[in-house]
Amino acid sequence: MPRLLIECPDTHKMIYTGLNFNWETLESASLDDETLPCTECGKVHHWTSKDVILDETGSSS
Ligand SMILES: [Zn+2]
Repeated sequence: MPRLLIECPDTHKMIYTGLNFNWETLESASLDDETLPCTECGKVHHWTSKDVILDETGSSS
């Protein structure tokens, strides 16, 4: 299942949210105000389902 990524607003790197969704479950999930401690900049980012990118390649950067 694809990994859920968001873009760090400070470093513009893609960070893994720790969640795995496909498009069907993502659309039905209620992800309105999630938080994620960022591994790149150390801050806590708020994100919603509209912010996410699905990494379907399975590759890690
Ligand atoms: Zn960050």
